[in-house]
Amino acid sequence: MLNNLVPATPAKPNLRLRITAAAQTSVRNGHPWVYADSVREQNREGGAGEIAAIFDRNDRFLAVGLFDPLSPIRVRILHVGKPAKIDSSWFEDKFKSAIGRRDAMFDRSTNGYRCINGENDGWPGLVLDRYAETYVLKIYTAAWLPNLTEVLALIPGECVVLRLSRNIQEFAKTQFNVVDGQTLRGDVPNAAVIFLENGLRFEADVVRGQKTGFFLDQRENRRNVEGLSRGKSVLNAFSFSGGFSVYAARGGAKSVASLDISQHALASAQRNFDLNKDVIALTHETIQADAFAWIKEAKRNFDLIVLDPPSLAKRESEKVEAMRAYARLIGNAIERLNKNGILVAASCSAHVHADEFFQLARRAAEASARKFEELETTRNAADHPVTFPEGDYLKCIYLKFS
Ligand code: SAH
Repeated sequence: MLNNLVPATPAKPNLRLRITAAAQTSVRNGHPWVYADSVREQNREGGAGEIAAIFDRNDRFLAVGLFDPLSPIRVRILHVGKPAKIDSSWFEDKFKSAIGRRDAMFDRSTNGYRCINGENDGWPGLVLDRYAETYVLKIYTAAWLPNLTEVLALIPGECVVLRLSRNIQEFAKTQFNVVDGQTLRGDVPNAAVIFLENGLRFEADVVRGQKTGFFLDQRENRRNVEGLSRGKSVLNAFSFSGGFSVYAARGGAKSVASLDISQHALASAQRNFDLNKDVIALTHETIQADAFAWIKEAKRNFDLIVLDPPSLAKRESEKVEAMRAYARLIGNAIERLNKNGILVAASCSAHVHADEFFQLARRAAEASARKFEELETTRNAADHPVTFPEGDYLKCIYLKFS
C-alpha cells in the first residue's frame, strides 16, 4: 500500500530539500506548509505526491512531507522531528486515530461529520467527511492523486465520492483521468445523500454541492440557534440548504425564512424542511435575493437573524474591504431586529481573525446606539480541529439587542 509515496522510479535518489532559516523555524514549530520560495536547494526535480525529506543547514533531518510541484505550497509536512518511515502502516495508524477521535464525539443521532480535517489532523490537503454510509474525500493538492487507491483502501462505508478543489481539476483529468464528483466506490443515486445531524434529517449533494455537500462546520451554531428560537420570527440569511432554518423550526420558532441568492440552495432548504415534517409543524418561507441588499432595504423585522455569508476575503488583499462589508451587513441586520432581537453573525474568512471579527461586530453594535448584550462567541467545532493559523477560519458572535 501507498507504494506511490515512494519515488516512482527506484533508480532515482530520494527527494531532498533544504529550506530557508525562517522556514526551518516555522516547520520546527509545527507549521505544515513549506512555500516554493522558501526552498533553497533541491537534489532533483520532484513529481506530485513524492515524499520529500527536508534537512537543515547542518544536514540534520528536519521533516518529511508530500511534494507538490504545481502549488506555491511546495511541501505539505507529514512528520517533523526524528526520522520516520512513512509507509502504509504509518498512514493506517494516522487514519485510525483520526476516525477513533470522531467515534467518541457523536452518538447515533449524528452520522454526518468531518472525519479528517486536513493539516489539522495530520493529513495535509485532504478532507474526509462522512454522510451516513457515504464518505466524501476532498483533496486540495495534486500530491494525493497518485495515492488515491491506497487512501481509498483505508476508508470505510458503502460509497466513496471524490471531490477536487478547482485548482487541481485539470491536472487530475489529464494526468490521472479522475474528475470532481466521481464515485470511487459504490453509487450515489440522484447525487443526494440523506444523513442525520442531532436527530434531524438533511440531504447533502455530495457530487456537486459546495464543500463536500453540506456545511458540517456549523453544527454547534445551528444547535445554539435551535435553543434560542422558541416563539421567535427567524431570518436565516445566506441559508444555503437551510441548516439553521430547520433547527430554528424544531426549536419552536414562530416563523422561519431562508434567504439565499441561489434558487438551487433554497430548493434544497425546502426539501430539508420536508424531510423533517415529523418534528416541524411550521411552513417555511424562502426568499431568493441578494442578502446584502435585501437586509438593507427590507420593510420587515425579525426576532432572530442568522448571518452566515460566504468568505468575503479569499485573499489577504481583500481583507480591509471584507471587514467593511461585514460591518455594513451587521449594521443593517441590527436595524432589522425587533426589541430583544438576537443577531448570530458568523465569518468563515481565515484572513479576518476571530478577535478582529468580534471587534468589528461589537463596534457595529455600538454604532447602532441600541443597548446590547453579548451572549456568546464560538469557534470551530471539535470535529474541525485547528492546529495552524491558516486552518482557523470559523467564528461566530451572538448579540442581543434591547
Ligand atoms: N449557513 C449555511 C451555509 C452558508 S454558505 C449552512 O449552515 O449550511 C453561503 C451561502 O451564501 C451559499 O448558499 C450562497 O449561495 C449564498 N450567497 C452567496 N452570496 C450571496 C448573496 N449576495 N446573497 C444571498 N446569498 C448569497
